[in-house]
Amino acid sequence: MIEKKDVDALALQRKRMVQEQLIGRGITSTAVLDAFRTVPRHLFIEDGLVYQAYSDYPLPIAEGQTISQPYIVALMTQHLDVHQDDTVLEIGTGSGYQTAILAELCSKVYSIERLGTIASKARKLLDALGYHNVMIVVGDGTKGYAEKAPYDGIIVTAAAPYIPDTFKEQLKDGGRLIIPIGSEYVQTLMKVTNQGKSFKEESLGGCRFVKLIGEYGWKK
Ligand code: SAH
Repeated sequence: MIEKKDVDALALQRKRMVQEQLIGRGITSTAVLDAFRTVPRHLFIEDGLVYQAYSDYPLPIAEGQTISQPYIVALMTQHLDVHQDDTVLEIGTGSGYQTAILAELCSKVYSIERLGTIASKARKLLDALGYHNVMIVVGDGTKGYAEKAPYDGIIVTAAAPYIPDTFKEQLKDGGRLIIPIGSEYVQTLMKVTNQGKSFKEESLGGCRFVKLIGEYGWKK
């Protein structure tokens, strides 16, 4: 149970996180910054680590997975460049924190998670917080989610060895894909834009994510 005085302290830490870690490092989108001011990140963190919720690093969640560092979530979200009417696909629900940030910014979020236990925990928390524009699906996200395609944006929060064609096929004309690509230990964050007749690929810098495991990802 978090006490009232702690809630106030956490709110102050959240404000500082936005100022120092996000604005201080060049995150400029007002909508993105507002989403980070709104979503209570400490609720997405494991019990014993709540007081590190606003620290400048990733934290472990269940089943050996991680919640990304706030700055990386912000960087990916800013490059995804979503608008109010957009529909977004997220691969790797994890804690549901990135999902909540997206739910603040666009009209519908489909989020695919491989592990049922993780998905149901995130589902409960997002429901409790009133994010009714989120649908969580348990399954292999490397196949995307053809049922609701095409998407304005696709964000992959686990590392893939290569860019699966499925994601490119499920992007709208003008749509953006953000995905970490590389080895098991170090990756490059890539932005892929569907330009109609071709795909533009840009590197957004180095990063480190847990593995994307599935048919078009790592096998285990
Ligand atoms: N966005 C999350 C980060 C979660 S870590 C957050 O903010 O907390 C990455 C998640 O991707 C893990 O929960 C892992 O189980 C999931 N994952 C790995 N491979 C997957 C796949 N093929 N499909 C869906 N989810 C996958």
